[in-house]
Amino acid sequence: MIDPWSSAIIDYEKLTEQFGIKPFEDFKKDIENPHILMKRGVIFGQRDYGRIVKAMREKKEFAVVSGMMPSGKMHIGHKMIVDQLNWYQKNGADIYIPIADMEAYSARGVDFEDSKELAIFEYITNYIALGLDFEKDNIDVYLQSENQIVVDLAYILSKRVNFNEMKAIYGFSGSANFAHMYAPLIQVADILHPQIKECGGPKPVVVPVGPDQDPHIRLTRDVAERFKSKYGFITPSSTYHRFITGLTGDKMSSSKPKTAIFLSDSPQTAQKKVKSAKTGGRESLDEQRELGGIPEDCTVYELLLYHLTGSDDELKEVYHNCKNGNIMCGECKNNASSMMKNFFEDFNQKREKAKKKAQKILDRESKC
Ligand code: SF4
Repeated sequence: MIDPWSSAIIDYEKLTEQFGIKPFEDFKKDIENPHILMKRGVIFGQRDYGRIVKAMREKKEFAVVSGMMPSGKMHIGHKMIVDQLNWYQKNGADIYIPIADMEAYSARGVDFEDSKELAIFEYITNYIALGLDFEKDNIDVYLQSENQIVVDLAYILSKRVNFNEMKAIYGFSGSANFAHMYAPLIQVADILHPQIKECGGPKPVVVPVGPDQDPHIRLTRDVAERFKSKYGFITPSSTYHRFITGLTGDKMSSSKPKTAIFLSDSPQTAQKKVKSAKTGGRESLDEQRELGGIPEDCTVYELLLYHLTGSDDELKEVYHNCKNGNIMCGECKNNASSMMKNFFEDFNQKREKAKKKAQKILDRESKC
């Protein structure tokens, strides 16, 4: 059983086997310009992604739903989701971004007003600064608690979900409160509502998630089947990405500041953090020259792979130089930390500009 509200480390292979997630690899050749996270194996799994590839190829309507739960500061690992949304927006998707204030209230005890503040000044601000275009017609961001279509749909759908099922999927016990148990059903409605008549009717929908969110995907797909005859739902697709390792070698987490580079960090702080990150280097320089480093165990290499190096050739060069002992960790860290500093110098300016825009976005009426 996976608990989507805990931060346990994931065994990707076991998960894929146990819950029937299929490899993403099979689709790489069918996508015209795959995202670098697809090419580099960070996005490793999928369910029914074929219908999304088909919709993109035939220029047909499709949607992406990617929620945010405003319960802490965003770190560089969260950037991955926005990078994917940017790519989908360029590929013609309708983008839906539910702000999970109901889930933040029930699972984390965050007040609705605090959720809204955090969503505006942290999440939406970062999303804009990272390049997502909120001026376009095909994007809808909303607070769950203020989207009546979603709230009503969740109620209708919950008629065909019972306590035993929620217990089997999420492990809820008799002491679980109703709000927490109801929160996943709001998410089910978030994912399915783009397909109801008022929102344009049935269409392929994809949800890009980390594997810890798979319980929500499984529940949604089952509920979609149960309501197919009423709404004509097409069972939603999903993709799964690996989590970036934290700077200390543990999972990167907002609640453990030493593991994370926050998107609100100054360029100098971000640079310093890269310089003190755990590497896959050897005990001594001589040993490293002789045996080479281990990029597979290196958090600096991961930063290059996930975020800092757009060029596949440059990334390969670092990998081979490391493996062959041609580059030492000091030099490699210096290069990566300068790249990180440059990124944050540019990003911080964009963040400042984005704050004003972000304040107005939730005042707009939700499109659906
Ligand atoms: Fe990591 Fe670079 Fe050291 Fe290799 S040389 S282990 S990639 S820091």
